[in-house]
Amino acid sequence: MKVGIGYDIHRLVEGRKLILGGVELEFERGLLGHSDADVLTHAVCDALLGAAGLGDIGRHFPDTDERYRGISSLKLLAEVGELVAGKGYRVGNIDAVVVLERPKLAPRAGEMASNLARTLGIDPGRVNIKAATNEGLDAAGRGEAISAWAVAGLFSGEKDDSDPDPDSDCD
Ligand code: MG
Repeated sequence: MKVGIGYDIHRLVEGRKLILGGVELEFERGLLGHSDADVLTHAVCDALLGAAGLGDIGRHFPDTDERYRGISSLKLLAEVGELVAGKGYRVGNIDAVVVLERPKLAPRAGEMASNLARTLGIDPGRVNIKAATNEGLDAAGRGEAISAWAVAGLFSGEKDDSDPDPDSDCD
């Protein structure tokens, strides 16, 4: 099994949509970035790339490349999923935390998990999304930015880890 970590932060500005995990949230500001600036999906991409030993999102999708201007980050995640599969890995699980003061993320967290899971072609039960406030501290706490952390576990080989090994005495 391989484990990877991802972190990202984007500034909150006026005149942009707020998109997290492919879900557009109602809010008076949105995240600034070259793509749709979906900070959660970016952190998940980095966790997956890290676990597979494939570098980071900036290496695969540079923000100087016009092809990625305004792109849905779910499209980047789909490509990351293909890169990870191409190295012979299957996604075991993804866990992520989004750090923000507002808006409330919990009511839409299930939708975000479903979007990420569907994009990766995995069971939604393998993706967990949660939120934390920063208690008014630092940029996320002051509402100037939203950050996200993610970890991803990958398995190698063909065996389905959800099935107990029928030959094992340890079941
Ligand atoms: Mg980013």
